[in-house]
Amino acid sequence: MKLLHNAIMPISQRPETIFVSGKGAYLFDEHGKSFLDFVQGWAVNTLGHCHPVLIEAIGQQAQQLINPSPSFYNQPMVQLANKLVEKSVFDQVFFANSGAEANEGAIKLARKWGQLDKNNAYKIICFDQGFHGRTLATMSASGKAGWNKLFNPKVDGFVKVPFNNLQAVNQAIDQQTVAIMLELIQGEAGVIPVNSEFILGLQAIAKEKNLLLIVDEIQTGIGRTGSLFCYQHFDIEPDIMTLGKGIGGGVPLAALMAKKSFCCFEPGDQGGTYNGNPLMTAAGLAVINEILKPGFLKQVNDCSQYLQQRLTEMSKQFQLGEIRGRGLLLALETGSLNAVSIANYAFERQLLINAPRANCLRFMPALTVLPEEIDLMIEKLYDAIAVLKEEI
Ligand SMILES: *Cc1c(COP(=O)(O)O)cnc(C)c1O
Repeated sequence: MKLLHNAIMPISQRPETIFVSGKGAYLFDEHGKSFLDFVQGWAVNTLGHCHPVLIEAIGQQAQQLINPSPSFYNQPMVQLANKLVEKSVFDQVFFANSGAEANEGAIKLARKWGQLDKNNAYKIICFDQGFHGRTLATMSASGKAGWNKLFNPKVDGFVKVPFNNLQAVNQAIDQQTVAIMLELIQGEAGVIPVNSEFILGLQAIAKEKNLLLIVDEIQTGIGRTGSLFCYQHFDIEPDIMTLGKGIGGGVPLAALMAKKSFCCFEPGDQGGTYNGNPLMTAAGLAVINEILKPGFLKQVNDCSQYLQQRLTEMSKQFQLGEIRGRGLLLALETGSLNAVSIANYAFERQLLINAPRANCLRFMPALTVLPEEIDLMIEKLYDAIAVLKEEI
């Protein structure tokens, strides 16, 4: 196939490879070359590439009904909403097409609640290095380095404070504050977990000051951290949660969930042409049903243990840094070695791996990853690191 570079906007530095198919832990290019995939569409392909259950669900639904319009109910929409409500502390769902859109919804919901019930309070406290998406409002809520200069003027009303610092949060709160919004593991920042003292403290502050606690579980939700939702690892009940990425198993699906008393949207406040369409929600239903099967999450935790063990050995051998994260969202500090170079060398060895920071590798395989695939990944990573070490 002729590469039509010029027809695609350059929003990412892409390798020349064109991918044509995928199966489980592997992606294949047009020459049949296989790549072991530890990126999985950016922690999106929960069940790996082209899982039979997902193919079946999408195929069946495509034959039955693709889109009746967002202003009518459809079966998979209702079933998936019921399932998410049943398995979480939240009471209602709004389905969206991307994580950013779900977060926009969360911001709107918080502001509406502020107008109705908190004297027009609208400010949302967010965190340095946080990532909430690429729309104008979600970029404004993000604390990614360098973004403060882009696409100005930004959307007003987001106050940034350092992560895991309760005192900073306390100092940032004023009469106009309506919510605190955070990731429980800051994924794009390099897999930085919230510490439990901090999150428990945030919940206490939110209760005391009548603020909404919004958790962005777009990367951490749907089994990724070894429980269905990451907030379940802590003794907390957030007021609002957003889901994306893994919820659709690869297709564009996201969700905004909230507790009943904060569900204040009225008809006309929120919507979108594709929201809750049965093709995507059928995929989401297939994914969550698979994850909820007995033993699935235990398998995720077992694989996490194994991956951490193998990474620890590697870190010792090459004198790299710490391993952090939960479940199958893990990072390895690479110390003085450039993680982006490691990822590039890994690509040459047909391993897809992500370096969210210059000195950190991120591991986000399918939740169905097998121990032997972890072994193979480690083998390829050893090679890549060894080559880089020789160069230095
Ligand atoms: C990926 C991500 C988003 C944005 O999701 P999109 O589907 O890319 O819009 C928001 N928040 C977090 C934590 C993410 O990881």
